[in-house]
Amino acid sequence: MTQVRTLTVLGATGSVGASTLDLVRRQREAWRVVALTAHSNAIDLARLAHEFSAEVAVIADEARLPELREALAGTGIEALGGPAALAEAAARGADVTVAAIVGCAGLAPTMAAIEQGGVVALANKEALVSAGEVMTAAVVRHGATLLPVDSEHNAIFQCLQGNDPAHVRWITLTASGGPFRDWSWDQLCAATPAQAIKHPNWDMGAKISVDSATMFNKGLELIEAHHLFPVGLDKLRIIVHPQSIVHSMVEYRDGSTLAQLGPSDMRVPIASALAWPQRMDTPCEPLDLAAIGELTFRLPDEERFPATRLAREAAQAGGGIPAVLNAANEIAVAAFLAGQISFTRIAAQVDLVLNAYAPAPPASLSDVLAVDSEARERARELMETA
Ligand code: NAD
Ligand code: MG
Repeated sequence: MTQVRTLTVLGATGSVGASTLDLVRRQREAWRVVALTAHSNAIDLARLAHEFSAEVAVIADEARLPELREALAGTGIEALGGPAALAEAAARGADVTVAAIVGCAGLAPTMAAIEQGGVVALANKEALVSAGEVMTAAVVRHGATLLPVDSEHNAIFQCLQGNDPAHVRWITLTASGGPFRDWSWDQLCAATPAQAIKHPNWDMGAKISVDSATMFNKGLELIEAHHLFPVGLDKLRIIVHPQSIVHSMVEYRDGSTLAQLGPSDMRVPIASALAWPQRMDTPCEPLDLAAIGELTFRLPDEERFPATRLAREAAQAGGGIPAVLNAANEIAVAAFLAGQISFTRIAAQVDLVLNAYAPAPPASLSDVLAVDSEARERARELMETA
């Protein structure tokens, strides 16, 4: 009989949250849900908390707390609101916490989960990009286990098992190239939010879909990989692979390359993290390579998509610079989605903010949050003057 484990899902109403709960729904006997959280959708959150008999439901937007309370009345499920309550719920110490909030908003609750020393299955790449060593040091200090859920990093994690990272020649992150990979610069200048969020292979939240279109997603992932895996930045490469079947690769010094393949379905890497070091069933379609026919690869184009260059430079600079890059990107993506700036301005705005603000390296969570908030402020100012 499998032992029942406790689970918290930060960002339960999102795309990764839904994929996680879909797997848990098929294995109800194996899990007891502690906390589920959401930003503002109180009705969906209450429905999920009820379905999974959560101990507590937390809504980040405090204005929605009365709605959540009303929806959970009589169920015995606790209802909390506000950012501090997110961290409080994460600190209840579930055996496994799936960190699936989008953006740096997920950093404090993810750190609270890490401080409890359990397993943290990390989808929320912006949190690791912003906090960097502050997060990885906390993982070590509190004896937590950080398991990557991002498909590329989950692939790399699997390809590194049983091998000494000292023998790694290259880690190659694959990128779909996003919906605009074959678009000209002129076409990119006119790209709309609706076009950007329509990803060819993956069904994801709006922010990561835009990041995928600009290639900031791969840039953030480069920084994420740098913190997760003990190899130098000079060993991390990016290759465009439009089919999104090879999720990433590790090449060793003897010429062996290990890759992880699978369908473009986040339930595969999520299941890998939920079951690790075991394996669990998923309802995902088996890989049919004969039907796919061809897997193709090409180099990224940093002229049209400067994001990966900006991210590599930020990773090289280290300290608080990746947090500035992330914050500037979050503000620019929100402005693009709101129709305030064009698609190609996103990278240009991030570049402006990086040139305007070089904070001292953050040493603590509160330092990182201060850098994040100052960078957002600068990003908004530079948007107005641009
Ligand atoms: P999403 O927009 O679908 O969901 C985000 C979740 O976070 C929702 O539950 C939302 O309510 C919550 N949230 C949003 N803003 C918040 C705030 N300010 N405070 C508290 N909660 C907030 O996003 P997603 O696509 O599920 O992505 C989640 C994270 O996983 C992102 O960091 C993304 O980069 C990463 N990721 C996603 C995918 C994917 O396939 N969707 C793949 C790899 C990595
Ligand atoms: Mg990814």
